[in-house]
Amino acid sequence: MSIKSTDNQYIAHTYKRFDIAIVAGKGALCRDDNGKEYIDMTSGIGVNAFGYSDPVWADAVSAQAHLLQHTSNLYYTAPCAELAEILCTRTGMSKVFFCNSGAEANECAVKIARKYAADHKGAEYYNIITFNKSFHGRTLTTLAATGQDGFHHLFTPLTEGFLYADAEDINGFQKLIAENKVAGVLLETIQGEGGVNVMSEGFLKAVGKICAENDIIFMIDEVQTGNGRTGALYSYQNYDLHPDVVTTAKGLAAGLPMGACLMNGKAAEVLSYGDHGSTFGGNPVCAAAAISVLNRMDDAFLEEVQNKGAYIKKRLTDAGYEVSGMGLMIGIKTEKPVSEVIRKCIEGGVLCLSAKDKLRLLPPLIITRDQLDKALNVIIEALR
Ligand SMILES: *Cc1c(COP(=O)(O)O)cnc(C)c1O
Repeated sequence: MSIKSTDNQYIAHTYKRFDIAIVAGKGALCRDDNGKEYIDMTSGIGVNAFGYSDPVWADAVSAQAHLLQHTSNLYYTAPCAELAEILCTRTGMSKVFFCNSGAEANECAVKIARKYAADHKGAEYYNIITFNKSFHGRTLTTLAATGQDGFHHLFTPLTEGFLYADAEDINGFQKLIAENKVAGVLLETIQGEGGVNVMSEGFLKAVGKICAENDIIFMIDEVQTGNGRTGALYSYQNYDLHPDVVTTAKGLAAGLPMGACLMNGKAAEVLSYGDHGSTFGGNPVCAAAAISVLNRMDDAFLEEVQNKGAYIKKRLTDAGYEVSGMGLMIGIKTEKPVSEVIRKCIEGGVLCLSAKDKLRLLPPLIITRDQLDKALNVIIEALR
């Protein structure tokens, strides 16, 4: 049987796949089982920061796999400790919990906010404010955190205690805080799945200030925006923001499952022995991959991400399209249905994403100017 028919027979139908079976890749290029080559503007939904089969990444992974692949969290391992140190040093956060996905990182964040509030204000302070059009994951708690009704109705009852605010409406946000017993606030500085919606610096700072004044845990979901994607290591570092908790995953190990929940200040000592855990969390192979990823994301690398992002925006706005996003996280308003644009891009050998009704580009951060030009020619043609 072919890859596609075997998959369709045996894999649960949770994914409506495109009619493409990808067999191999190198950098920003990949090819399907017919030998057709594509420029990848998706990087596995913001995961493959260094593209496909990056040799430095592959060496880091394979060296660790040959040395020690897993021990459980009953023991110390070097990659786990080293990665935590790098993350804290590069962000100014002070403690890390490792897990395997974005949803799990957000679960950890919610647990921290609730435990902190229960310890300091009372167990009735369990509410978490998130934002309309947000996306925080697929577990029952992170679905509840996701401010999109479409995700909610199928699996009720979801975890209780989530309230939804509108981005940019600081009065509405303040009202929610005044009228409810709130433990924490969780937001994406740029809503990814929700349409590449950028929250303004003024709004983000106002939310952070209100959280600090009310002793509410301020949590930033950097699952998609993190790990160099916006041209800063974490997007909140583009601004003068001081979150208590930062979650990340996707690009952290550039293609292996790795999530992290970073904590600072009053949030750092909330979890104690036995409060939380994960069998695979901080796995040495994934941690070794993440170390190699972060060590290569120096200032010059991040500046190149900004430059490439600016170049994409310029070409698209020059062509008359409305563009949102930062760095290599880009949303484009389309006149035609976005599914049609994506289909045309595929025909032209370019893989793209959607985010609600926008076309979304999350190319690998190492994409070359030449590859970008070729991809943009196809995309602009497909948008017409
Ligand atoms: C993808 C995503 C998640 C969920 O991550 P998983 O690894 O799929 O659990 C959470 N938050 C944001 C902002 C995301 O983009």
